[in-house]
Amino acid sequence: MLKGKTALVTGSTSGIGLAIARSLAAEGCDLILNGFGDAAEIEALVAEIARTCGVAVVYDGADMSKADQIEALFANAAPKGVDILVNNAGIQHVDKIEDFPVAQWDRIIAINLSSAFHTSRLALPGMKARGWGRILNIASAHGLVASAEKSAYVAAKHGIVGLTKVAALETAESGVTCNAICPGWVRTPLVERQIEAKAKEGGIDIEEASRDLLAEKQPTLRFTTPEQLGGVAVFLCSPAADNITGISLPVDGAWTAR
Ligand code: NAD
Repeated sequence: MLKGKTALVTGSTSGIGLAIARSLAAEGCDLILNGFGDAAEIEALVAEIARTCGVAVVYDGADMSKADQIEALFANAAPKGVDILVNNAGIQHVDKIEDFPVAQWDRIIAINLSSAFHTSRLALPGMKARGWGRILNIASAHGLVASAEKSAYVAAKHGIVGLTKVAALETAESGVTCNAICPGWVRTPLVERQIEAKAKEGGIDIEEASRDLLAEKQPTLRFTTPEQLGGVAVFLCSPAADNITGISLPVDGAWTAR
């Protein structure tokens, strides 16, 4: 379905971004992977996806907190632009506002929000010129509701939901759509660290901590899998979703239903 298209998935060396990249590649989409990690493992990943899916895969390690590196990524890895842009790179830090390290606030806003502005401003001219494009912003249930001690993350995710709506309005007649996906808990390294902190704090084991984490927020008591989010991303890139734009789609086991 996506043969001949190229997708940039930021933060695709792990977790949700990697699963979305794999799902797009399985539909024939060429990939630009991005994110941090061990160079040899990333090289092996690039080769494995290219081989198993029969698509072209390149890697660019641009730091999404740096506008100049994002510009260099577009100049080097995507001189003709991209057809699908998945703004997924993201980090978390948990602390009360008065204890929140200023450098962490700046970093989270830069990676989780400003990077999507930079990639969008660089991708949109090509998408508009070709009359087709998809921007998928990986927001969060925290783009719709808040939790204590996650000020920067919640502010950035509410911000990206707003950016999604503006991009949808500015591209409404162009064949480009822009939507946000708002996952609840997905068991990736980002959440594993929060489960470990909960276990340590409560003096409980990892499985009990993960059950508590779900029980607090996610009524289905089940994690969404990265692969399920890959399926949602493919749907939003399909012809069935041509007129879906500007939405923030919760995939959150009813987290935001109450
Ligand atoms: P993860 O930690 O598994 O992956 C994060 C990816 O981002 C990695 O590839 C990492 O290398 C990359 N990254 C981090 N900083 C970067 C930077 N400065 N420049 C480039 N790449 C960078 O996390 P995940 O859970 O897969 O999260 C992916 C996205 O999904 C994030 O935006 C996160 O906020 C969002 N999300 C996650 C959950 C969840 O429960 N896991 C829920 C809602 C939303």
